[in-house]
This record gives sequence, C-alpha cells and structure tokens, in this order.
Amino acid sequence: RGVYGYSNVAAAEDTITPPVKVEHTQLLIGGKFVDAASGKTFPTLDPRTGEVIAQVAEGDVEDVNRAVSAARKAFDEGPWPRMIAYERSKILLRFADLVDKHNDEIAAIETWDNGKPFEQSSKIEVPMLARVFRYYAGWADKIHGMTVPGDGSHHVQTLHEPIGVAGQIIPWNFPLLMLSWKLGPALACGNTVVLKTAEQTPLSALLVGRLLHEAGLPEGVVNIVSGFGPTAGAAIASHMDIDKVAFTGSTDVGKIILELASKSNLKAVTLELGGKSPFIVCEDADVDQAVELAHFALFFNQATSLRKTSGQCCCAGSRTFVHERVYDEFVEKAKARAIKRAVGDPFKSGIEQGPQVDSEQFKKILKYIKHGVESGATLQAGGDRFGSKGYYIQPTVFSDVKDDMLIATDEIFGPVQTILKFKNLDEVIARANNSRYGLAAGVFTHNLDTANRLMRALRVGSVWINCFDVFDATIPFGGYKMSGIGREKGIYSLNNYLQVKAVVTAIKNPAWL
Ligand code: NAD
Repeated sequence: RGVYGYSNVAAAEDTITPPVKVEHTQLLIGGKFVDAASGKTFPTLDPRTGEVIAQVAEGDVEDVNRAVSAARKAFDEGPWPRMIAYERSKILLRFADLVDKHNDEIAAIETWDNGKPFEQSSKIEVPMLARVFRYYAGWADKIHGMTVPGDGSHHVQTLHEPIGVAGQIIPWNFPLLMLSWKLGPALACGNTVVLKTAEQTPLSALLVGRLLHEAGLPEGVVNIVSGFGPTAGAAIASHMDIDKVAFTGSTDVGKIILELASKSNLKAVTLELGGKSPFIVCEDADVDQAVELAHFALFFNQATSLRKTSGQCCCAGSRTFVHERVYDEFVEKAKARAIKRAVGDPFKSGIEQGPQVDSEQFKKILKYIKHGVESGATLQAGGDRFGSKGYYIQPTVFSDVKDDMLIATDEIFGPVQTILKFKNLDEVIARANNSRYGLAAGVFTHNLDTANRLMRALRVGSVWINCFDVFDATIPFGGYKMSGIGREKGIYSLNNYLQVKAVVTAIKNPAWL
C-alpha cells in the first residue's frame, strides 16, 4: 500500500476536549425524555479516538410503537394540525431563533459525534438548520387548495391537508441538515413525526428536540427514537399507523424501506439515496480553478469552511472526468492540492478534514483504496490512514481510473478522488450517465453551448455549473435512477407531506342559470 505525500503526522494525538456537555441521551417520546422500554443502551463513539462519548437509549419496536402512539394522538386530537397556520409558523421561527442562540453548543455536539470540522458545523450546518426552518415557517400559512372549474353544476375545491404521521429515517453524514430537510416541511404542513437518527450520530437531534419544545411545539408532534436500522428503522418503515416514510441513506436500505412500506400499509415513500456523481472538467477550463472546485466537490464533508470537509457526501463529485487537453496538468495540481489539505482534530481551527465517522467506514474506504491500487489505477496522493488513532484517512487521489474499476462505480463515501480522462462531449455524456445512480453532476466550463448541452443531457437531479454543493433551502434536491424517489427542499418538498382532497358540492340552482 503506497503512502505518498504525507509524513504520517500524529493527527489526533493531542485531542482537544470538546467545549460542550452531552445533556440528552434518552428517547424523546410524547414531549418527554424517556429510557428505552427494554432499558438497553448503546455507545456513541468519538471518531477522533474511538472512545465512548455517551451511552444512548436504544429504541426498538416497542419504543417505535410508543412514539407512533404519541404522534398519532398529537395528530388526531392535538392542536398542531388544527392551529392557525400562522401560529405553527411562529413556533418554527422561535425554534430557529433558539438554534441561533445555541449555535456553538449544537455544532460542538455534531462535531464530536460525527467528526466533521467544528468550523463547518458552526458556520455552515447549524446556520443552515435555522435557515431551513425559517424557510418552511414562511410556507406554513401559504399552503392552500384551489377552486376547480368542474362540470358547471358542482362547486369543486381542493383541500391540501397534512398527510398524518410521518416516519423519518436519517443517516450520519449530515445529521442536522437531513433532520431539517425532513422536519421543516413536515411540520409546516401540520404533520406529526417519528424520527430515527443514525446509530453513529444520535446526539444532535436530541438537543434539537429539546429546543423544539422550548419553542412551544406541542408534545407528541416530534418524537425522536435513537436506535439501529433493522430494529427501530424497520419498525418505522413497516408500521401500520405511519402514513408516510421519508428515508435518506444507502440505496440498498432504500430498497428495504420500499419493500417494508409496500408489505405493510402502502405508506407514501420518498427516498434520498446514494450517488456516484460526475464532475466534468471541460477543455476550456482554467485548470487552477477547476482543480480547486473538483477538490471541494469530492472532499466536502470532512472540512472546515464550505471548502473544508471528508468526502462523506451523497452527492460528492466522485468521478472527476477531465478533458485530455488539460488532463496532465490537472492531475499534477489535484495531487498537490490534496497533499496540502489540513487533516486533524476537527475542533482545531483551520482544519480542513476530520476523521471518518466510524471504524466501519474507515475500513471500507481503505479497502476501496487497496482495490484501486490492485486494479491498476495510479495512486497520486494518500492511500493510507492518517495518524495512529481514530479514523483519519489521508486525502487520496487516483489517476488513470477506468470506468469499470470499483473505485469508479461504487460509492466510496470517503476522501478518495478518482480522475478519468475523456476526449469529447458525446463520450463524456455517455460515460457520466453510465451509472446506476443519478444524484448530481458538476460541470466546469465557460462555454455556454457546452454548459447548455451538458445540463440537459446529464440524467441527474442536480447540475452545478461552475459551482458545487449549493444547498440553499429553496433549491430542490433528489435523485434520478437509483439515487432516489422524490425531492426534498424548496416548494417541491411540501407535496411529500400533503394529501389533496377533492370536495365536490352539488349546486342546486346555480345563480347564473
Ligand atoms: P444506511 O442506509 O446504512 O443508513 C441510513 C439510515 O437507515 C440509518 O438511520 C440506519 O440506521 C437506517 N437503516 C439501516 N438499515 C435499515 C433497515 N433495515 N430498515 C430501516 N432503516 C435502516 O446509510 P448510511 O451509511 O448511514 O449513510 C450513507 C448513505 O446515505 C450513502 O449511501 C449516502 O449517499 C446516502 N445519503 C444520501 C443523501 C441524499 O440526499 N441523497 C444524503 C445523505 C446521505
């Protein structure tokens, strides 16, 4: 296994003590923090060291049943779906203000549990949590039906009603953002929720749950169950009293969710799944700028500013296609950029990349790197762990990657850039689309015709032209093909949480007859 470019610095040897205390480790059901019915707990680990941060209540089928009962009661009898929408909006806005107030506390919990740089959590992700809630708070009192022409002898109207109890299952890579994309629209539309966090990162959502109640959310409207997928997660997907399930995670588990939903009560399903997104550097590219953007597109989510994260991003630009005219220069500069990347304790200022979330991801990524070397790709940078403890991985760059290598087809979900050469647009369109995924794509060009052609030809849910990972609350996000079903964020997400009821009233003596 090659190690290029890095002195194996003891990255995490001087681990910083996180500036926060973990206050909430129980399940949040019916507005109260409670132990799991079984009394069981599981440890959540610090990815910098592998040490236990806290023991967390382990929710299972019985806890999901309790949470669904609470959510059902809150929906069927409680004030939330019945209150004037403006009042719901005010509660969501108050919550966003509390998020601002507790910004650094929430961010520190997120960084501790997940390993992402504190600067990223505190300056980007927690502010985005507040932003998404403010955006959907704005929608709460703007959701309404229509009057429809009908056949002339009936008055026809549509009512846009909340769908009921929503089950929501989220992953560990962006716990707060995934939570906001799901809770924001669900709550604005008047639904109640049972949310399951990822077993790797249960902590930040529990703090958010407390703040939602401080903001005035009635009890039972949001219930949070920490726990594992095959137990708590499957119980949500197959529950007969849940009306809709929204899932973000891997494509394999997405299929299970769909199956469980169809085998139980045919609940509505939206899925945000994996990706293997192309980032296409065209022949007219300014190579320095293209290298910087392609680096960001791949390595985001192990860094400290928007430019600083760890490749644990579903839409990572993980197939870097570079035109042959600029290929050699690009590879040299991409290598130099990766080697410059600041890896280390995510609580340190200026760190671009923290550890991977857990030992499973860490081992999986190292296995893919080994695959890359064995299948004949050229290892330009990285290729090994970073430091001697925790789950740090060297920013890794492969060139001479071929389309059928596993590192070019599979979602590695780590700081591994794979660079592929192309000759012309027809070829790169066909190769970029030759994937079971269709989540996102990046295009780097200043040629308007090229940009227009690519944006239409790429079979993906998001195309970023001369930018990447632009995640404003207003912009819909979701996948084509096996990257998912449905869209989150923006106006599109509201439909996920609404039923449309057609009401037809006979007109006995129409005034105009
Ligand atoms: P995962 O599918 O293993 O887990 C995601 C969630 O599903 C977790 O809460 C987990 O506990 C739960 N789960 C696991 N097995 C389950 C089961 N049998 N029944 C019900 N729930 C189950 O994914 P992960 O490794 O945590 O997350 C990484 C994946 O998420 C990547 O594939 C990534 O691309 C994807 N992702 C997609 C988006 C998107 O918006 N498209 C965003 C972030 C992450």
